[in-house]
Amino acid sequence: MTLKLYILDDDEQYAALLTEVASNIGWDVTAEKNPVSFLQSNILPASVLVLDLNMPEMDGIEVIRALAEKKINLLLILVSGFDARVLHSAQQLAEAHHFKVLASLTKPMSIKEFAKTLNSIKPQSEQIQKLSLTENMASAAGLEQAIHQHQLVLHYQPQINMKKEDLHGVEALVRWQSPEHGLIYPNQFIGLAEESGLIEPLTEEVIRLAVEQSRHWQADGININISINVSAENITSLSLPEQLKELTDKHEIEPNKITLEITENAVMGDLTSSLDVLNRLRMKGFALSIDDFGTGYSSLSHLYKMPFTELKIDQSFIMQMLEDSEAMVIVKICIMLGQMLGMKLVAEGVETRDVWKELQTLGCDIAQGYLIAKPMPADTLIQWINKRE
Ligand code: C2E
Ligand code: CA
Ligand code: CA
Repeated sequence: MTLKLYILDDDEQYAALLTEVASNIGWDVTAEKNPVSFLQSNILPASVLVLDLNMPEMDGIEVIRALAEKKINLLLILVSGFDARVLHSAQQLAEAHHFKVLASLTKPMSIKEFAKTLNSIKPQSEQIQKLSLTENMASAAGLEQAIHQHQLVLHYQPQINMKKEDLHGVEALVRWQSPEHGLIYPNQFIGLAEESGLIEPLTEEVIRLAVEQSRHWQADGININISINVSAENITSLSLPEQLKELTDKHEIEPNKITLEITENAVMGDLTSSLDVLNRLRMKGFALSIDDFGTGYSSLSHLYKMPFTELKIDQSFIMQMLEDSEAMVIVKICIMLGQMLGMKLVAEGVETRDVWKELQTLGCDIAQGYLIAKPMPADTLIQWINKRE
């Protein structure tokens, strides 16, 4: 299989050289010197992009952001003439946006190094191409039908109080149980739902499933918090607070047992209507969490104005905090900030005992991650709770 490689570099001679090398070892190469026209072109997902960080019109950091916004999944090779620190920060930003960074190279690099990097990623890239084949199977029409036929299911991931080490609650994570393709994960259809106007019915279905599950747990004496993810479009829909309140009233669930998780960037979109909706949700007693914190661009003054009760530190920082001093600084700042603003702090992506211990020392309130448990169906969760007691 011929693999697709994009080279985005304003230095034409340099780009021509890289093109030559890559074509010789069997890649299908497109070189582009203008980031704007690159972003407008028809980019094949799951390809590899060699990205120069220093370009005059739009720098590499902005390109990464734009790709993330367009939800184009590429494997990245970052290249920069600047020092290693710039490359490192760019890599962190890319990873926070869930891009896989295959290599960070400083210019001028040797042809041998470049060729070696390309050769080492062939198998990985093929794997990802397979993944994106299933991604393409998810069409808007198929998803719409799945929502109506109740093929969406929720898995629940436990969240533990770090002081008492007891169960605080769960995060509800949606999956699509497709009769043809099996279990499909949210990163393969949430973007599609947001683009095709299906995020409203999808979120409605998720909220309904979560509230019904919460009622079952209450009947079994399990009185825990449940966190639900909502998208940017959902919090600009002005009727969300009333709809949610109606549903919790119907099932006799206390609103303070429900937390809505909203990503940092979603809130910053349409600030006026999101503030309106968030304030009314708070007034009705629902808890609000700011998700993926640290990856977005919210200013402190915005954060201060928003009625959030919880701050969720992004997993990319938690996972690297013991190896990477910059990640550690970010985690510490988040914890300080949360404490100052009176918010509960949640660390997500806790995978090791060492990270758990460090977070405990730093004063983090709640932990979630594979160390504790992976997301699981509701009946497995009951068994998990019983075993733990
Ligand atoms: P998220 O809200 O950041 O959710 C956390 C993701 O990290 C989940 O992936 C979870 O399985 C994974 N995770 C948790 N702990 C660990 C860990 O220790 N290590 C690692 N490597 N991963 C961990 P999942 O379930 O695939 O969800 C992906 C994203 O899809 C979520 O990210 C969220 O943004 C979105 N999503 C999920 N359910 C919904 C939903 O009902 N509505 C909306 N709008 N978005 C949803
Ligand atoms: Ca979340
Ligand atoms: Ca998150």
